[in-house]
Amino acid sequence: MTGVDTETEWRGRFDSSLMRTMGMPLRLLVRGRGAYVWDDEGTEYLDFLAGIAVNSLGHAHPVFVDAVTAQASTLAHVSNYFSTPPQLELAERLKRITGAGEGGRAYFCNSGAEANEAAFKLARLNSTPTRTKIVALNNAFHGRTMGALALTGKPAMREPFEPMPSGVVHIDTTIEALEATIDDTVAALFVEPIKGEAGVLDLPEGFLRRARELTEEHGVLLILDEIQTGVGRTGAWFSYMNAGVLPDAVTVAKGMAGGFPIGSLVTFGWASDLFTRGQHGSTFGGNPLATATANAVLGEIESAGLIENAARRGVELRAVIEGLGSPLVTEVRGQGLLIGVGLSEPVAGEIADAALANGLIINAPNDSSLRIAPPLIIGDEEVREFGERLARAFAALS
Ligand SMILES: *Cc1c(COP(=O)(O)O)cnc(C)c1O
Repeated sequence: MTGVDTETEWRGRFDSSLMRTMGMPLRLLVRGRGAYVWDDEGTEYLDFLAGIAVNSLGHAHPVFVDAVTAQASTLAHVSNYFSTPPQLELAERLKRITGAGEGGRAYFCNSGAEANEAAFKLARLNSTPTRTKIVALNNAFHGRTMGALALTGKPAMREPFEPMPSGVVHIDTTIEALEATIDDTVAALFVEPIKGEAGVLDLPEGFLRRARELTEEHGVLLILDEIQTGVGRTGAWFSYMNAGVLPDAVTVAKGMAGGFPIGSLVTFGWASDLFTRGQHGSTFGGNPLATATANAVLGEIESAGLIENAARRGVELRAVIEGLGSPLVTEVRGQGLLIGVGLSEPVAGEIADAALANGLIINAPNDSSLRIAPPLIIGDEEVREFGERLARAFAALS
C-alpha cells in the first residue's frame, strides 16, 4: 500500500465509525519513543504536547513498560471489596506529595472529569440549607461529564446539555470578584490554577493566597483542579506549592500514570471527613494495574529529578520562544513545562499546522494561543530540536 492509499483509508474508516464528537485527527500515529512519535508513513514528530500533559515520561519509557507488564502479569483488577499493595502505596504517596500529610485521604477513579465529579459531590457534602453555592471561574475547564461541565466556565460548551446540575456560580478571575462572592453561603470554590484549555492563562498575582484566606475564613472548601498542572509539570509537585498555599482538596489525573488512565481526588484535613461509607465509588477506580503504573511513574519523576528538570527546561524553552524574535509573540505564559504563547494575531491554528508539517507537535487551544507541554524527560537535544522546528513553523507563516 502507498502512503496516500493508507491515509485515505484511515480517514475514511474514522469518518464512518467514530462518534462525531471530535474533528478529523491530524495523523495516524503508530509508535513512540521518548519525546518522539511516528505516523503510519514513518514520519517522525517531536511530541511537545505529550497527549495533553499526559505522557510525563514520554513514550514507551522502560519504567512505564515494566510497571504495566509486571502488574498485568500479577494482578490487574479486583473489586473494591479488596485492597492491593499498589493501591495502599499510591494513597500514601499522594498524601505525601500533595502535602495533605497524615490527615489526607485519596479517592481513585479513571479520568480527570471523574475526579472533578467526586470533588463536586464533596462540595455538596459541605452544603447546608444556607450554604448552597459552588463558585467556579469563567473560562476554566473542568471536564465533559455533567457535573464537571457544570463547573466549566464556558457557556457554549454547557448550553447544548442544559439543564446542568444546579448551584454553580461563575465569577471573573479577579481578587475583587473573589472578595465580592466568597461568604458563608458558599460551599466550595473551584480553581484551575493555570487555565490550560483557555490558552495557558496564569492566575493574577496573589489570587490563590487571597482565595485561601477567604475560603478559610468562611468555611468554604478550596478545591484545586491540578489535572493538567499537577505531578511535577510546573516545576513543583503541584502548582499551588509555587504559590505557597495548600487547598482542602485537589484533583489529579492526566500525567499521574504517564498515559495509563487514572484520576484521584485527594482531601486535606477536615475535608477528609466529609465522605462516608457508600457515598461514592468506581468499579475500575484504584485497581492494581493503574495504581502500580502511577507509583512507578511518580517514583521515576521523583528519583530522576524530573520536577527540577521541568523547571530548568521550562526556562530554556521560554528563552527559545523569546529568541525567535517574532513580532507575533506578545506573551509567554505558564510555569515549568506548561507554556502558553500569546499571539498578536489569530494565527495559532496556522502555526500549529506549520509546526506539524515541520515535525513538531504543539497545539492551539484558541486562535491566539499556543500550548506547549512536552514530556518531563526532555533534555538538551529536544530543546534544540524544538527551537529549530518552531523557527521553521514561524518562518513558514511570514
Ligand atoms: C483535561 C482536564 C480535565 C478533564 O480530564 P479528562 O481526563 O479529560 O476527563 C479537567 N480539568 C482540567 C484542568 C483538565 O486539563
